[in-house]
Amino acid sequence: MKKIQMVDLKTQYDHIKDTVNASIQEVLDTTTYINGPQVHTFQKNLEQYLGAKHVIPCANGTDALQIAMMGLGLQPGDEVITADFTFAATVEVIALLQLTPVLVDVEEDTYNISIEAIKKAITPKTKAIVPVHLFGQAANMEAIMALAAEHNLYVIEDNAQAIGADYKYANGSKQKAGVIGHVASTSFFPSKNLGCYGDGGAIFTNDDALAHTLRGIVNHGMYVRYHHDVVGVNSRLDSIQAAVLNAKLPLLDQYNVARREAAAKYSAALSVSDKIITPVIVGDEDSHVFHQYVFRVLDTDRYALMQHLLDKNIPCAIYYPIPLHSQKAYASSRYNEADFPVTNRLVKEVLALPMHTELDDEQIKFITDSVLEFVK
Ligand SMILES: *Cc1c(COP(=O)(O)O)cnc(C)c1O
Repeated sequence: MKKIQMVDLKTQYDHIKDTVNASIQEVLDTTTYINGPQVHTFQKNLEQYLGAKHVIPCANGTDALQIAMMGLGLQPGDEVITADFTFAATVEVIALLQLTPVLVDVEEDTYNISIEAIKKAITPKTKAIVPVHLFGQAANMEAIMALAAEHNLYVIEDNAQAIGADYKYANGSKQKAGVIGHVASTSFFPSKNLGCYGDGGAIFTNDDALAHTLRGIVNHGMYVRYHHDVVGVNSRLDSIQAAVLNAKLPLLDQYNVARREAAAKYSAALSVSDKIITPVIVGDEDSHVFHQYVFRVLDTDRYALMQHLLDKNIPCAIYYPIPLHSQKAYASSRYNEADFPVTNRLVKEVLALPMHTELDDEQIKFITDSVLEFVK
């Protein structure tokens, strides 16, 4: 059996080596390292793939979030509501911009931001909601957009983990995650569903005026060379990364299918145990692109289970072990433990199994058999 890895970028690369190398070689031959034609081509290709009017490439997913918030003109003291159960980047940029992060609990089935919790957290100071489409599945965007319209709030989708996922509305129509809110951010970190070979990110919006503002902010606030109209940053997707992404974007759908098929096999095998809760997909199967396969394990010593798997050379991980409201950097007297019953439970129960585009049936069977050996 091939060695099991949490993410197998090497095998993936071996399959696409010729296309990727040729794409990178073009940058080397033309020395257009910054803002080369590859960046513009990627922007257009991604706009078309997503059905987004504007894609603004930038240096990474954390910058993308920050620049989106800067572009919306959020001011110090404005309250921004986001999920307690996620990666810290989301809350980090809110705090960096001196906005006030307001962390709220998540839904037990999807692990995504809770609509009821958002409702309770809205105050006259609230200016924006940042749903994070966690592990590959969009949050309940229909309800979030309705709440935002009612309270005049911006919605910034953190789409770093769900690129390519289809969001299904109650009436059956579909849109890609990331083109539903006012603006969205994504990351092309190597292990993401659409990953480059270094850092990369992008912002999406359908709003022409906002797109114009964002294009200036990513480039030192310049709209005309050496005229700085607003305070900006330097955040670029470099041409070599764009070249890699141009080679990989045509494969994104098939990569997401491979992840989904691996997830379906995991769930089919693991659901025999009544101590395991497998991930829930809301909508059709294309609603979830399984950036991570995260299940819950009940009445089990989770760390002993992890050791059991590691002893068999099966990597596994906890995303995420500590709620953001309990992190030193983001603690606040505004929070009560009673406000986070779901997050507080999830951090004790979740476990992520290897998830990537190259898992084979033998590996999946070995992994699920090994879990079930321990979780009786
Ligand atoms: C990866 C990730 C980010 C940050 O992206 P970087 O490119 O690493 O800066 C932000 N939010 C979420 C939910 C992520 O998973």
